[in-house]
Amino acid sequence: MDNIINEIKKLKKEKNAVILAHYYVCDEVQEIADFVGDSYYLSKKATEVSESMIVFAGVKFMGESAKILNPEKTVVMVDGKADCPMAHMVTPEKIEEVRSKYDDLAVCCYINSTAEIKAHSDVCVTSSNALKIVKSLPNKNIFFIPDGNLGRYIAEKVTDKNFIFNDGYCPVHVKITRQDIINKKKEYPNAKVLIHPECTPDAVELADYAGSTAGIIDYATKSHCDEFIIATEKGVLYELRNKNPEKKFYTVNDSQICPDMKYVTLEKIKNVIENTENVVELSEKMSEGAKKALDEMLRLAE
Ligand code: SF4
Repeated sequence: MDNIINEIKKLKKEKNAVILAHYYVCDEVQEIADFVGDSYYLSKKATEVSESMIVFAGVKFMGESAKILNPEKTVVMVDGKADCPMAHMVTPEKIEEVRSKYDDLAVCCYINSTAEIKAHSDVCVTSSNALKIVKSLPNKNIFFIPDGNLGRYIAEKVTDKNFIFNDGYCPVHVKITRQDIINKKKEYPNAKVLIHPECTPDAVELADYAGSTAGIIDYATKSHCDEFIIATEKGVLYELRNKNPEKKFYTVNDSQICPDMKYVTLEKIKNVIENTENVVELSEKMSEGAKKALDEMLRLAE
């Protein structure tokens, strides 16, 4: 393993490359990445790095966002097939249909969406900043896409707006069920339950804290409690344990694994840097439209 890590380090220097990785990729990738974070952190970081090549250890929509925000840089995906199923769970036609039915409407697009969908939206959000951004919008009607669960979670906290929901969902988070959490809580009655709002509302209801992966890490790190049940993709355990070696973390069940995030390996990182493979390319028209929604997110989240 040391060999490949040294090769990656050497290639990074030669190609002036930086590695951005999501908390859901496997431990050894998080260990060698230059920056690790959730979608909001990574999209901000992509606008700050000085290297000419961004190597994205994550899924397709993340690399697209990095490219849209940095059109002059070369953005490569570690695995060209790694994609988020939820990103495709809404269509431009559906957005236009809702736009035609409601006046004073903002189309709020979770960053887990394709560049095409972002280009049809007014503003992007992540699970870290969705509440702040939705609250700050002047519009009366909010069409929240593509994730119905995150949309409902935000709507519960913003009672002065009318929400229209989409039926998209994360196939990984919906498998973390209410009953699984109840069973785990019986096993570890003193543990606090920390959950991602992509989970179903009846599961979120049981949590002591609901928030983004970065929020979950922050909560566990600052908490006086020393046991936690973690209801999100299990890749986050790497950072949780790094930051809190004395605390205990339990998963809810065996299905907290995003298969697409696990396509990312050290071997593939070496190859894409070496051969400049899986370059993210987007049409100018699509990039311009999607950039407006992403810029609006960065502006409103400040
Ligand atoms: S965990 Fe869910 S939302 Fe995140 S990338 Fe995987 S499928 Fe998409």
